[in-house]
Amino acid sequence: MKGCPNRCRHCWLGAYPNGNLNEEDLKFAARQFKPLANSFELDFWYREPDFGDNYKELWKLTEELSDVKTPHFELMSFWRAARDKDYIPWLYSQGVRNCQLTLFGGEEKTDFYVGRKGAYGEIVKTIEMLLEHKISPRIQVFVNKDNIDELCEIERLAADMSLEKRCEEIGGRFVMFAHQGSCDGENEKLYDIRLTPEDLKKIPAGLAEKTLEHFGKQSLNEVFGETERDLLLKLENDGSVTDLRESSPVFYIDGNFDVYPNISAPEPFWRLGNLKNDGAEKIAENYLENRSAAQNASVTVPVCEMAKKLGNTDSMRLFAEGDYFEYLLNRYCREK
Ligand code: SF4
Repeated sequence: MKGCPNRCRHCWLGAYPNGNLNEEDLKFAARQFKPLANSFELDFWYREPDFGDNYKELWKLTEELSDVKTPHFELMSFWRAARDKDYIPWLYSQGVRNCQLTLFGGEEKTDFYVGRKGAYGEIVKTIEMLLEHKISPRIQVFVNKDNIDELCEIERLAADMSLEKRCEEIGGRFVMFAHQGSCDGENEKLYDIRLTPEDLKKIPAGLAEKTLEHFGKQSLNEVFGETERDLLLKLENDGSVTDLRESSPVFYIDGNFDVYPNISAPEPFWRLGNLKNDGAEKIAENYLENRSAAQNASVTVPVCEMAKKLGNTDSMRLFAEGDYFEYLLNRYCREK
């Protein structure tokens, strides 16, 4: 509804101006989509949750407008937490017992990657407040070649704040994990500094152990994926195409009422239509018929063709297979 106060350099949604939809716009979206769904759910954010001052009213309104309402996720607004004393107690009242915060290293690196000075201080303050209100902080770490040498700062912060012990004391569990994220939106711009296999040993032991625990994996290679070179070898004769439609699709409505499927960054080639101009029925039909340019390419162009055209066979950068496919598909649509 209101966008996001941050401009994270890893944000898979890209960096677009904030929109400012209002409550009437939410009701309009519900009137449009609800008749088309077996079970309808409406939410009021696709960027920072609870960024708008009226987050409590919007939560209530979306509850009323939905057939089902998923409980509040572990995602939260540290911007709001640092400014609104009611916010964390409200999260607790919604049943939230774990909240995720993202760090990139120490203060300078975190501020740089969140895209806002003061972000690190707000995150640290939020961790304290969460614990005071019996909510366990969960630390997500995005890692690339630029910040990998600073990960020890995050371990140090966790130790200095006794997060393991304090989470246990409130009956919770301290979770911390590192990953690279997908390679779309703003994160695609970090392609050049994605990790290569020799970087994995630089991840500090404590963070590595907690990462394996979080993802239920035996080795960091399983978490960080395969090299681009190896993935290309696998894909060179793969003539398959991918149908991205889901039985319970999620649609994003941006500040201009343009609608996108929840698959990758809201780039023009994913656009399904405009809710005001086209209406939900046409948008749903475009989705079901794979008519956005990206969905269409995904079901008509064999992956080996995209890989041959765009893959870098010398690259040792690490990717999860699904993230690499989306990276290829986005580039294919943009560059064809
Ligand atoms: S990653 Fe989240 S907090 Fe950062 S810019 Fe994107 S939506 Fe905002």
